[in-house]
Amino acid sequence: MDKHFDQYWQAVLNRDSNRDGQFFYGVLTTGVYCRPSCAARTPLRKNVRFYASQEAARENGLRPCKRCQPDANIDARHNLMHEICRYIEKHYQQRLTLALLAEQAGMSPSHFQRSFKAVVGMSPKKYQDGCRIRMFKDSLKSHLKPEGNITQAMHSSGYESSSRLYEKIDTHMGMTPGTYRRGGADELISYASAETVLGPVMIGATDRGICFLQFDDADDRLLAQLNLEYPKASFQPMPIETQPQFDQWIAQLNEFLEGKARVLDLPMDIRGTAFQCMVWDYLVSIPSGTLQSYTEVANGIGKPKAVRAVASACANNKIAITIPCHRVIRGDGSLAGYKWGLARKRSLIDLERRVLVDD
Ligand SMILES: [Zn+2]
Repeated sequence: MDKHFDQYWQAVLNRDSNRDGQFFYGVLTTGVYCRPSCAARTPLRKNVRFYASQEAARENGLRPCKRCQPDANIDARHNLMHEICRYIEKHYQQRLTLALLAEQAGMSPSHFQRSFKAVVGMSPKKYQDGCRIRMFKDSLKSHLKPEGNITQAMHSSGYESSSRLYEKIDTHMGMTPGTYRRGGADELISYASAETVLGPVMIGATDRGICFLQFDDADDRLLAQLNLEYPKASFQPMPIETQPQFDQWIAQLNEFLEGKARVLDLPMDIRGTAFQCMVWDYLVSIPSGTLQSYTEVANGIGKPKAVRAVASACANNKIAITIPCHRVIRGDGSLAGYKWGLARKRSLIDLERRVLVDD
C-alpha cells in the first residue's frame, strides 16, 4: 500500500477524532468504511484502504459502519456549516462576530470555529473576507471606467475605509484596484532563476510580489514559459538592486524544500480570472501535510459542480508551492496530474508529511 498513507494509518491506530471528516478508511474483509475514531477493533493494515470522501468509499462497494456511522454526524455537520456559509454570504456587509455565528450554529464559539474550519477549510472570518473580495471584484469589473466607481464598489462591498480595503486586496488579489481594472497589462516583470533540490526554478516578480514561480528540468524553457503566462507584460532580468530580495526568496524556498521550514510565506502578486483567484485563495488555506480532492475543493468554494473547472484552475497555477496545488489529488487517492511533473508533486507531498510527523 502507498506509503503516503502512513499518517492516516497512525490516526486510525490512535483513533484520532481530530481527523474525523478529513478521511475515511475502508476494511476490505468486512466491507465497511469508518471514521478514523471508530471504536471497532483495529483491522489488519493490509485490509485497509483510505478514502478522501464517503462517496469514494461507496464507489468501492463499501457501506457505512453501523458503529461509528461515518455518514450521519458528518453530513449533519456539513449541512450546518454550509448553512452558516449561506448566512455569512447574506450578511457579509455586517460585522459578524464568532459568538454571533456560533449562536446561529447552536455551538460554543471554539467548537464552532473548529467545525467550520474542518468543513469549509478556512476560518469564518476568512470566509467573510472572501465574500467581500469577490463582491468587490465583481463590482469593479461590472463598471469598468471612472475612478469614482472604486469608492462605490468599496462601499457596496462593506468596506468602511479605503485603507482597510487596500490592505485586504494586497494579500488576496496582489494588485491595487486600478491595475486590476486594466487587466494587469503594461506590467514590468523582473525574473531570475536558481537551482533547487527540485531542479531549476524561475521567479518572476512585479513591484508588488511574486507572480511566477515555476520549475523545469531545462533552464532555458523557463523564460519561454514566463512569456507564455504573461503575454501582455514586459520583462527584464532581475535588476542588481532587487537581487538581495531574490536571493532571500530562493533561500526561503530552499529551506522549505529541505524540510527546515514548515511554511513558505512569500509575497504574491496573483493574476487570474475571478474563478481562478477563488480556487487559488482556497488552496492557500489547505494546511501543509494534508490533501484534498478536486471535489472537496469544489465544495469548499461553494461550487460543487465545478470539479473540472477546479482541476483546470489548479493546472493553470502560475505560482508553484506558495499556491499549493500539489495538495489536491483525486478522490480515489491517486495523484492526478501536476503542471511541473508528478515526481515533483510526489516529492512535495512526501516532504510535507515528513515535516508534519517530525513536528
Ligand atoms: Zn466504524
